[in-house]
Amino acid sequence: MSRFNVRQVAVLGAGVMGAQIAAHLVNVRVPVVLFDLPAPAGQPGPKSAIALKAIENLKKLKPAPLGLAAEAARIRAANYEDDLALLAECDLVIEAIAERLDWKHALYEKIAPHIAPHAILASNTSGLSITALSEPLPEALKPRFCGIHFFNPPRYMQLVELIPTPTTEARSLDQLETFATTTLGKGVVRAKDTPNFIANRVGIAGMLSTMREAEQFGLSYDLVDNLTGKKLGRASSGTFRTADVVGLDTMAHVIRTMQDQLGPDRGNNPFHASYATPPVLAKLIAQGALGQKAGAGFYKKVGRDIQRLDPVKGEYVASGAKAEPVIDRILKKAPAERLKLLRESTNPQAQFLWAILRNAFHYAAVHLGSIADSAREVDLAMRWGFGMQQGPFELWQAAGWQQVAGWVKADIDAGKALSSAPLPDWVFDGRSGVHTPEGSWSAAQGMYLPRPALPVYRRQHFPETVVGENAVPALKSGTEVFRNEEVRVWTLDGEVLIASIDCKLHLISPTVTAGLLKAVELAEASYQGLVIWSPDDVFSAGANLEALMPVFMKAGAKGIAPEEKKLQDLMLRVRYASVPVVAAMRGLALGGGCELAVHCARRVAAMESYVGLVEVGVGLIPGGGGLAYIARRAAEKAATAPGTDLLPFLKDAFQAAAMATVGTSALESRQLGYLQDADVIVAHKDELLHVALGQARALADAGYRPPQKSLIPVAGRSAIATIRASLVAMRDGGFISAHDFHIAGLIAEVVCGGEVDAGTVVTEEYLMALERQRFCALLEHPKTQERIMGMLQTGKPVRN
Ligand code: NAD
Repeated sequence: MSRFNVRQVAVLGAGVMGAQIAAHLVNVRVPVVLFDLPAPAGQPGPKSAIALKAIENLKKLKPAPLGLAAEAARIRAANYEDDLALLAECDLVIEAIAERLDWKHALYEKIAPHIAPHAILASNTSGLSITALSEPLPEALKPRFCGIHFFNPPRYMQLVELIPTPTTEARSLDQLETFATTTLGKGVVRAKDTPNFIANRVGIAGMLSTMREAEQFGLSYDLVDNLTGKKLGRASSGTFRTADVVGLDTMAHVIRTMQDQLGPDRGNNPFHASYATPPVLAKLIAQGALGQKAGAGFYKKVGRDIQRLDPVKGEYVASGAKAEPVIDRILKKAPAERLKLLRESTNPQAQFLWAILRNAFHYAAVHLGSIADSAREVDLAMRWGFGMQQGPFELWQAAGWQQVAGWVKADIDAGKALSSAPLPDWVFDGRSGVHTPEGSWSAAQGMYLPRPALPVYRRQHFPETVVGENAVPALKSGTEVFRNEEVRVWTLDGEVLIASIDCKLHLISPTVTAGLLKAVELAEASYQGLVIWSPDDVFSAGANLEALMPVFMKAGAKGIAPEEKKLQDLMLRVRYASVPVVAAMRGLALGGGCELAVHCARRVAAMESYVGLVEVGVGLIPGGGGLAYIARRAAEKAATAPGTDLLPFLKDAFQAAAMATVGTSALESRQLGYLQDADVIVAHKDELLHVALGQARALADAGYRPPQKSLIPVAGRSAIATIRASLVAMRDGGFISAHDFHIAGLIAEVVCGGEVDAGTVVTEEYLMALERQRFCALLEHPKTQERIMGMLQTGKPVRN
């Protein structure tokens, strides 16, 4: 396949979706032009005012669409009157204007003559037919037109559905899938051009079914959300809260598409009665209570409380209802027993849960043939678009296919289901599921279809797989070279070693330290490099304080000092290893996790990496070389501008550590100084290992040598005094507590190298000894002990 070189993208429509898609393009370093309508004639100010306002608004949106708010300025604002010529410079045009076929048609006619002859045009419509949208396009453009359905918020939602028309050429779709995967970091599912495509079709039908069953079983919204959230392996916002977040008007719009496109007059649609808009939803919309954006919906924020609507009283009342303990116990059982117990229980909460699961299985099975190529697309779409841990087919298969099929059939026959439509014959053909190692069931084609073979997927060593695929998990793959209770050291290719931390939050305990030391030793003996990578969503949340508790209890801070030294020695061992050690980061890299990463030869970070030195939160200072790192980096940066004072190069990093600032993206983490210019940011989480292995190999190929030990000039006592003066102002102004002031002062002492003259040169070991001394002194402080105990007991920082 020839390379699809996306030099610039145009996004048409600077509304909710268009502006955020543009922001995500900025995140992944793709130049973007954002179009919207021209400002009305006669209005003062710039012609692209609508797009400009949307760009400005991106900086304030939560959750943040931009990895770095200031980068909003990288989006170029445009309008359809002055700037159409810019389209010729774009290789991809994404249309995201208001959901009206006639408006989209009119726009296509206007832009078509300006689109480059090779460029792809794709619509982000949620509900319009892609084929109908393509009708007015010139014949030459039709092969390069398709649907690209992002989910809101596009930076964070994994799913992108790609929808071809009968005239879309395979090459364009392949190019777009490759771009959406590697460059945008998305999970692509190909969907058929049926109303609401896959995720919204199944997901919104599921939400409607949940609302209906909730009413039948008389369950309040907060209780339903507690039952249908995390406990059920779904997004923590459950059902009604999700509706509030999505926007009740947006949800009603998707429902209307189902009512209009899948009505009784449109062929065989046995579920159409279940698409009715719930009266309470219609009422809320009529009142303007559109959910979170309007301040009220099924829930309302009153002061610090979240209240829920009582539909009978028509007012908001206290919320927070929880599932009965028996339900919690059932939901923790293995799938087969879980479903059996839910179905057999007389408890209304259990019956409700069985009813919504049954409806989901029924709906998915009846529609599989018409909406998706195979069951894999349905399950992945529900995971990536609706935050489910498992899609409906996976759960069904895991619970015992034929058993569950019999239960669903019995309920259909008894008139309990949403529709009398029977389950398709293939359900009962003796199968044990729809997913197999060879592929997933295609009801349309009557065969199992393998995973897509597009070359881009070779970059994913361990892609997300579905139940029944029986993929070997990462931590059982490759060749194991060493293992202790918390670290697995292994290799895929016999050339680069991989160390995977395998414990809760990947907290660094003495066992982890020992495992990583062993990994470095093995890598130096027989491999080209070492990559620190784990298959799950955290690099390391820090040092394992709990594991050190017994030592502290027995020997106090004195007992901790040697343990801390071991951690610091690990950092130095990693930094001065004779082979490159590469940190493959994703999710949290906090405290000791951050310190481990900064001591590696290189970092490869997923876009969603959150890095910071957060020890202040537990009343400590970074003690695993984090402060020594800050001092060293300041000296390295100052060396490029000789003659200048060290303090300006220290200030930001000092502040980040003293305020426990965590980067909210890999980009922001880089700005905080925890990633360096040569480090690599990867958009797709499942490509992280591939890129990190490549980096390790490339460093080795280029004749890697570890950095030479050198002396570090430090800022000394005058800089400490300057920092202290600013801290006094913060303390006296009430911005920080007396204990924060104390800790920040200690941080200043270490990063400035202690009470020495400015420019004094010191060793890393000296800085680490300072770190250790201050760290251990803090351990004895009652306020620090209060913070540590609070964190261990509640997981939340104590402010004292
Ligand atoms: P929006 O209402 O926030 O923004 C629509 C934009 O279109 C506005 O900036 C408006 O100025 C512009 N516009 C209006 N009429 C126009 C016209 N005649 N010509 C050109 N531009 C015009 O809408 P949105 O929520 O961002 O949705 C945009 C598209 O994305 C729709 O097709 C929608 O179905 C789809 N979508 C929305 C969501 C969501 O959650 N909001 C999710 C996925 C897909």
